[in-house]
Amino acid sequence: MAQTSTIQNDTKAAEEYAARVFETIKQRNPGETEFHQAVEEFLNSVIPALAKEPKYEANGILEQLTEPERLISFRVPWVDDSGAVNVNRGYRVQFNSAIGPYKGGLRFHPSVTGSIVKFLGFEQIFKNSLTGLPIGGGKGGSDFDPKGKSDAEVMRFCQSFMTELQKHIGPDTDVPAGDIGVGGREIGYLFGQYKRLRGAYDAGTLTGKGLSYGGSLARTEATGYGLVYFTVEMLEAAGETIRGKKIVVSGSGNVAIYAIEKAHELGAKVIVCSDSAGFVYDKEGIKVETVKQLKEVERKRISEYVIIHPSAEYYAGGDVWSVPCDIALPCATQNEINADQARALVKNGVIAVAEGANMPSTLEAVDIYHENKVLFGPAKAANAGGVAVSALEMAQNSTRMSWTFQTVDEHLQNIMKDIHKNSSNAASEYGASGNLVIGSNIAGFLKVADTMIAQGII
Ligand code: GLU
Repeated sequence: MAQTSTIQNDTKAAEEYAARVFETIKQRNPGETEFHQAVEEFLNSVIPALAKEPKYEANGILEQLTEPERLISFRVPWVDDSGAVNVNRGYRVQFNSAIGPYKGGLRFHPSVTGSIVKFLGFEQIFKNSLTGLPIGGGKGGSDFDPKGKSDAEVMRFCQSFMTELQKHIGPDTDVPAGDIGVGGREIGYLFGQYKRLRGAYDAGTLTGKGLSYGGSLARTEATGYGLVYFTVEMLEAAGETIRGKKIVVSGSGNVAIYAIEKAHELGAKVIVCSDSAGFVYDKEGIKVETVKQLKEVERKRISEYVIIHPSAEYYAGGDVWSVPCDIALPCATQNEINADQARALVKNGVIAVAEGANMPSTLEAVDIYHENKVLFGPAKAANAGGVAVSALEMAQNSTRMSWTFQTVDEHLQNIMKDIHKNSSNAASEYGASGNLVIGSNIAGFLKVADTMIAQGII
């Protein structure tokens, strides 16, 4: 009895601490709704860990964790093909360097704001911690839209962006990579300008590089493959298999493409993929080679898929989450599944949702999965394969060696297994068995928080 009431007291104190920190976040970052959302999910998850160990509050860990170590914002002027001057805004948030150099992608998309970069950077801290590799959390990007731009325009933009960014990055300080709108082409231009400005070959400053200049085999595939490896772990732990399952994937970018490829290899059937204009339904299974050609080579809309495969159907402006499936893999962008869409998935019998994109489900959608016993793999666990292989790329760059595809892929599979195991063990240990949101947040948090305490107030 006495012990129960102590736990209740500790939980109440932890809740009050988290609520106090959240109030400060809202006041200090007004209107930054995505950042608030990411912090709210995290704070609610770590309450059992705060309740168990008063040292986190005593050391002001939440206050420090939720304030970026550094937030850089800069002007990016560039000249388009018509000779007109354009100005975009560039960002880099260096959120936490307790366990390694800041690490995280760059996103080029018109929706990029300080709030978006901060939510992504905040998530990255715990995602990177979960990989078990020595990488801190960072993120960056710009409101520049590469869509419809010529290669020459993208190059000039990347050169201008890097001219400022290079002051802040390096193989042991901060290592950017790709995200939405930043793929092999952009990383190439960014690396070229970095090398020119530095006058040195610091390959480990960027990851996701081409194979001829320090890139890692399997980095391109890593996020999508890792997502499917994680999904398999989640299904197997529940006595299920991926074989024969019908899958809906949203998006048709890097994460979606390699999730489709791996899901097919393991005997599932992906029937849908999409882009921001609509979705394709192919009851025979999405032909991944066609999606690669359209999106990676020709940079066209997914609607063109049905010209090549007339038996498939295209739904302009359609809602992918209205298509019945066993497994949903959101691989497009943040907040692409709201409460109504989560309800539709449940009604149509979904058994698992795993997030390839960052924060694609709203807080309400996540509650609906849990209430309905849908297996749920949150982004920071399920999509950590990309950044994990980025850290392996850094390791290869440091030793000036390159590993085989098989070696990298084996590492990736083991990392995804460990993330699932550690998240699920943490969930059980902290009284939330099966809840991988709580489990992954706590597992990611403990390593970073304990390291921050060990390193002192800095
Ligand atoms: N942008 C990816 C992510 O969200 C990868 C980051 C990286 O490789 O550094 O994790």
